[in-house]
Amino acid sequence: MSKIICVLYDDPVTGCPDRYARGDLPNIDRYPDGPTLPTPKGIDFEPGTLLGSVSGERGLRKYLEANGHEFVVTSSKDGADSVLDRELHDAEIVVSQPFWPAYMTEERIAKAPKLKLIVTAGIGSDHTDLKAAVDHDITVAEVTCCNSNSVAEHVVMMALALVRNYLPSYQWVLKGGWNIADCVARSYDLEGMNVGTVAAGRIGLRVLRLLKPFDLKLHYMDRHRLPEALEKELGLTYHASLKSLSSVCDVVTLNCPLHPETENMVNAQSLKDFKRGAYLINTARGKLCDTDAVAAALESGRLAGYAGDVWYPQPAPADHVWRSMPHHGMTPHISGTSLSAQTRYAAGTREILECYFENRPIRDEYLIVQGGKLAGVGAHSYSVSEASKAAS
Ligand code: NAD
Repeated sequence: MSKIICVLYDDPVTGCPDRYARGDLPNIDRYPDGPTLPTPKGIDFEPGTLLGSVSGERGLRKYLEANGHEFVVTSSKDGADSVLDRELHDAEIVVSQPFWPAYMTEERIAKAPKLKLIVTAGIGSDHTDLKAAVDHDITVAEVTCCNSNSVAEHVVMMALALVRNYLPSYQWVLKGGWNIADCVARSYDLEGMNVGTVAAGRIGLRVLRLLKPFDLKLHYMDRHRLPEALEKELGLTYHASLKSLSSVCDVVTLNCPLHPETENMVNAQSLKDFKRGAYLINTARGKLCDTDAVAAALESGRLAGYAGDVWYPQPAPADHVWRSMPHHGMTPHISGTSLSAQTRYAAGTREILECYFENRPIRDEYLIVQGGKLAGVGAHSYSVSEASKAAS
């Protein structure tokens, strides 16, 4: 028998809906770049329902208890009194998610001698200290692809919302106004702008593809250059550095993982290279940016707008400066946890657990750490030398 701890965000304050806004989900069986959606042997949940909050239990209780395992579900994850800390000492598996991350620090990992597997239900495993996972021979897996398109859609939405000044204009409607000049004094067209992504992995590339029909000049940087044919197809300009990309782009979107090479890459110094009035969109990770430097750049006009859904820490405190800085379009961490995405990563989590318990290999594309080293996507997209700095 194994003990599995699953850390989920709280239910809606009004409780889970009796009836959802839509009756079904579109039928998608492959991701845009090829792999199949998760293929568990079975699922015990209703697609399109809240699976990421506590009552949804990621649809795992029936499966796990039927196989004799102990299953603990909680949203209590921070502080020594948290349920996570109380239960961790004999846990074999922790399932967490980036939206409400169980920060699996070196200290926590050291307190869990039976821990063998940490599953990220979603994408982005920086909330686990990957160096400690390597050192303790713990497998870290995530559900690669499950919400790449969800995030890319969010990036496009935020680019349009910032450039067209949508949110302040909507506020005028709520206030009963018809203040057209107030609304449009900061409103532009996206058409013709230079738009660049920092990283062109699954999300960054999807963002480029979705933006292509807007007739933009598209740019990217990545530590792995894309095939020449793809650069030609999308009309991409490659940049070897953030400085080169940010000095020409009107909109910059961050789509790389958080690891020691990328932490704090947008800071007071690097913001000086951005065009005056650039828009910055960060749905990747809050710690890619220096919090105060972003707020200062919005105050000074270096940035015309900042939007995203990732913060540090999460949940963000009520007085986090990004809640009150000017010209922002922040949301809580939601882009990758739409009801559509939840269905996919719940199925992916189930697939990973089935593989683990049945001694079958976990898909290579789901692996971040295995066998005491970076593996799969982890080897491609992360570095680990000082990973403990990135977790915490
Ligand atoms: P991916 O592994 O497909 O792509 C990551 C890309 O980043 C790779 O192409 C890699 O080469 C590049 N990269 C890594 N380090 C780099 C560096 N130092 N400089 C330049 N490029 C670098 O991952 P993905 O699926 O595209 O996801 C990217 C990140 O987006 C995740 O790690 C996660 O942090 C974030 N994410 C956020 C949400 C959300 O809900 N907001 C959801 C999913 C993923």
